[in-house]
Amino acid sequence: MSPRRGVPTDYRFPLAEPALSDLEEKYVLDAVRSGWVSSRGAYLDRFEHEFAAWCRTRYAVATANGTVALHLALAAAGIGPGDEVIVPALTYVATANAVVYCGARPVFVDVCPRTWCLDPGQVRAAVTNRTRAVLAVDLYGQPADYPALRRLCHEHGLLLVADAAESLGASVAGAPVGALADLTTFSFFGNKILTCGEGGAVVTTDPLLVERMRMLRNQGMDPQRRYYHPLIGFNYRLTNVAAAMLCAQLERAEDLLARRRRIIRGYTRALAGAAGLAERPPPDPGTRRAPWMACALVAGGGRAVRDTLLRRLAHLGVETRPFFVPLPELPPYRGSAGRFPVSTDLAARGFNLPTLPRLTDGDVTEIAARVRAVAAGLL
Ligand SMILES: *Cc1c(COP(=O)(O)O)cnc(C)c1O
Repeated sequence: MSPRRGVPTDYRFPLAEPALSDLEEKYVLDAVRSGWVSSRGAYLDRFEHEFAAWCRTRYAVATANGTVALHLALAAAGIGPGDEVIVPALTYVATANAVVYCGARPVFVDVCPRTWCLDPGQVRAAVTNRTRAVLAVDLYGQPADYPALRRLCHEHGLLLVADAAESLGASVAGAPVGALADLTTFSFFGNKILTCGEGGAVVTTDPLLVERMRMLRNQGMDPQRRYYHPLIGFNYRLTNVAAAMLCAQLERAEDLLARRRRIIRGYTRALAGAAGLAERPPPDPGTRRAPWMACALVAGGGRAVRDTLLRRLAHLGVETRPFFVPLPELPPYRGSAGRFPVSTDLAARGFNLPTLPRLTDGDVTEIAARVRAVAAGLL
């Protein structure tokens, strides 16, 4: 790994970092020189077209970030007060917050130990006559069980929304994430697979939802009549400068995905059978994970051992991060009904390892050796 100027970190191996090239620089410069730096411009149109095609779906709506993409999708679908939306207990907080922004209630369901995503059996048990939607999350790159969730949603007349912030490039039976739910949201935050600093998108095949999302994104303004706002909308627009960066990232997507896949394969190989560590279960046949962040687990000892491991790795120059805290443990969501033993266990034992496209095979071997040594020392 060669040192890079301007990377604000003391870690020899940071957890994540945007992979930017001359192409991003060229397109961003072009956007700036064109004067189209705000929320209209050719790069925005181009990104929405190209991203929808890349996801093998019909439409993409670009947004200011992934959190508002979730809110926009749910708001356009008419989710509101009195409604319940089923959400996994283990996810980033934005997933549940978006439901609350709509005035609806997130109903937490435990994840499945094999996929770390919504357990369809438990989703079925959580459906009530107030349930309007299932909001699945593709945790750490693993697509949720969309065939089962689609069947269940169809049976109960529910909307299926996918939070694919972490799974760009994943697929189920050859169909890419983006083409597996009624609405799918993405994030282009700085540590995501593709980035423009801050950005997001919703993709769908439904032209009516797209029309509503475009209107809500733009302060609820009637597209036929300026400054006439039939409803209360939001400013959730993305800029053309950010879209320029995304157009470059999308052109490089296959290369970026391949490099990340190689890194995660390297960790899997180098950490197999390591003392004190447990492995992530492999994906089901036909399911392809996205290579967002490499995941590992301590075998036992729970949070205390995991946190000691991460502290010692930090001293050795390896930046890591613990898994998300289960949302029912956070103050705003405390007291939620249900039991979440799998989420609690994974959250206590799991951590992410550096997954940045510029890591070499040698870097991965070196990091894995440090992880193995520290983990063995904690036994
Ligand atoms: C990153 C992320 C988001 C939110 O994305 P932002 O662009 O940071 O708003 C939502 N859900 C999940 C699961 C994420 O990982």
